[in-house]
Amino acid sequence: MLDAFFTPQSVAVVGAAREPGKLGYGVLHNILEYGYQGKVYPINPKADEILGLKCYPRVVDVPDPVDLVVIVVPNKFVPQVMEECGQKGVKGAIIISAGFREAGMDGIKLEQQVLEVAARHGIRVIGPNCLGVISTHTPLNASFAAGMPPQGGIAFMSQSGALCTAILDWALSQGIGFSHFVSLGNKADVNEVDLLQAWDNDEHARVIIVYMEGLNDGRKFIRVAREVTQHTPVIAVKSGNTAAGSRAVSSHTGSLAGSERAYEAAFRQTGVLRADSIEHLFDYSVAFSYQPPLKGRNVAIVTNAGGPGIMATDALERSGLKLATLQPETVAVLREGLPATANVFNPIDVIGDALADRYAHALKAALEDSNVNGVIVILTPQVYTQIEETAQVVGRLAGAQDKPVVACFMGEQKVGPGIKILNEHSIPNYLFPERAVGALKAMADFWEQRQRPHPEYKRFEVDQERVRTIFERVRSEGRLSLGDAESRDIMEAYGLRIPRSILAKDVEEAVAAADSIGYPVVLKIASPDILHKSDIGGVRVNVRDADQVRDLFDLLVYRAQRHMPEAQIWGVLVQEMVSKGKETIIGVNRDPQFGPLLMFGLGGIYVEVLKDVTFRIAPVSGQEAVEMVQEIRSYHLLRGVRGERPSDLEAITDTILRVSQMVNDFPEIVEMDINPLMVYEAGRGAVAVDMRFVLEEKESEG
Ligand code: ADP
Ligand code: MG
Repeated sequence: MLDAFFTPQSVAVVGAAREPGKLGYGVLHNILEYGYQGKVYPINPKADEILGLKCYPRVVDVPDPVDLVVIVVPNKFVPQVMEECGQKGVKGAIIISAGFREAGMDGIKLEQQVLEVAARHGIRVIGPNCLGVISTHTPLNASFAAGMPPQGGIAFMSQSGALCTAILDWALSQGIGFSHFVSLGNKADVNEVDLLQAWDNDEHARVIIVYMEGLNDGRKFIRVAREVTQHTPVIAVKSGNTAAGSRAVSSHTGSLAGSERAYEAAFRQTGVLRADSIEHLFDYSVAFSYQPPLKGRNVAIVTNAGGPGIMATDALERSGLKLATLQPETVAVLREGLPATANVFNPIDVIGDALADRYAHALKAALEDSNVNGVIVILTPQVYTQIEETAQVVGRLAGAQDKPVVACFMGEQKVGPGIKILNEHSIPNYLFPERAVGALKAMADFWEQRQRPHPEYKRFEVDQERVRTIFERVRSEGRLSLGDAESRDIMEAYGLRIPRSILAKDVEEAVAAADSIGYPVVLKIASPDILHKSDIGGVRVNVRDADQVRDLFDLLVYRAQRHMPEAQIWGVLVQEMVSKGKETIIGVNRDPQFGPLLMFGLGGIYVEVLKDVTFRIAPVSGQEAVEMVQEIRSYHLLRGVRGERPSDLEAITDTILRVSQMVNDFPEIVEMDINPLMVYEAGRGAVAVDMRFVLEEKESEG
């Protein structure tokens, strides 16, 4: 697919320069310096020869085919160069030149022009405004980066050129191997999704790491990433806040959602691992690229010091990994080979005076134990510690089997030579036990999400037609938000339970309504303009008789008029008073990148204060709905505390799934909340007490 970029037969550098220090020189120099085996053509109308190669005035003048061009000419010449590349049959262009979309209106136009030419000729483009591309296994360094990383299994893409140089520097100083290195620049054409697909099929890329600031097409990213993470671990660092659009939010969900939440949900749903710092990004990627998969959560620790062993144990437990329980045979073997003072249970303490042979004995026994999925070897440099020999032993034993081993040789100066040996054996070393644990946790998460069954999307019998009719009517009246009766109709159309309600336009209608519903009732101000009724004292529960209805009707209307003189008031809603249950919230806010962002959490009037909510991108699978319920902090309240009966969790997941289907069926819903969804004891269901809908401004296409 993107072979032209990674394994081209020939490369032309358009704008190749004779003067060291110029980009056009640096790129050509890197291509030659780092061992590219194909044909290289410098393009420069003013030179005959650069770095010993014959120069051509234009790409079309090259006598042989050209697969890839690297363009470093000033921005305004790029469309013309691309035109010539098209004539020449070039397949890929890396545009390093800047001065495009990042540089304002003229730049945007120029970028569009370039894209138009590229599309017409079928040329794929990386950049513009990028650092270039490196494929270590080809090898090809088509970039102006200062150096070339060693060959290895990490495939890296970045929206930030500066981060590329920083990572490259780290790779060089640590001797960490990479397979690919792509600076995406403005992502005019090739973006994260293209590279995920390409690298998923590349045997050299064992782990893909992505530094992103924002995505062009969130839905497509979800589709592709979900597939890729079935085979290849993907680790993302996301920074920067992509604007969530300028639409003013009016729902609870809208105020709690936001692009950060959407990315978090998207990563979780696709199995993309998130690193929350560059440090973690390094930690995880090295573990994935160096070591075999961690096929479970049970970890053994081998250490020569008690303190770090305990730190590692604590970190294991905090992160959801487990201290493996060693089998009796393993304990026996350990007891035989270790001194009497050693701890032969996990964490295995080989004691401060341990030489390499003791490490060998303990590590071998741990790796052979079928209760152990992976091992952390901790070493602190003590007087007799054989640092280098121990590193050799760890490397040899780890390499001879298929469980991951990570090391934590603590310190710097003394352990340095040992770490170097570990690196030669592809054993990742972490400065501190917590970081070793963090890396193993990422590996365990990856393995687990691979084992998850394929998501299943349930479809309910619903009355879409009824909803469509309501939306059409609302729009034809020039409104975007729905009234209570309309919202309740939609709930019914999607099979959700609601309390009986009657809209009363005056006092006598209200009394009649209350009589027919039966006391006690709830009175609520009915206005399309009042979003949070309680805030203005617009809700009264437990209204006991006709006299109270009469008094309160006027009071509610008076309050509404005083707080919001402009508000259109339809009257008062008389509602069946439902019995008390657990108040939860289910809502949706449309994210500009990913579409409908579904929220579940603890509801009621304190939802914004407690923020006990979780998010997924809709549609959600049955499994995801269950996870949402289990994820909130108040889950144990829903399960029932102190002899309380558990809540109807099935009714919650059922409602989540119906709402998920609804917003998928009707993309014009930009915001909606059910708050509260009153949830009763198991078997007794849930009732949607209060809800609101906001529709998109203009008719959505498709
Ligand atoms: P708003 O969210 O606009 O303030 P709600 O209709 O959600 O108004 O009412 C606020 C609170 O009043 C709810 O969280 C719930 O505790 C209570 N409540 C509202 N309607 C009912 C009802 N029909 N039965 C019982 N309690 C209700
Ligand atoms: Mg409410």
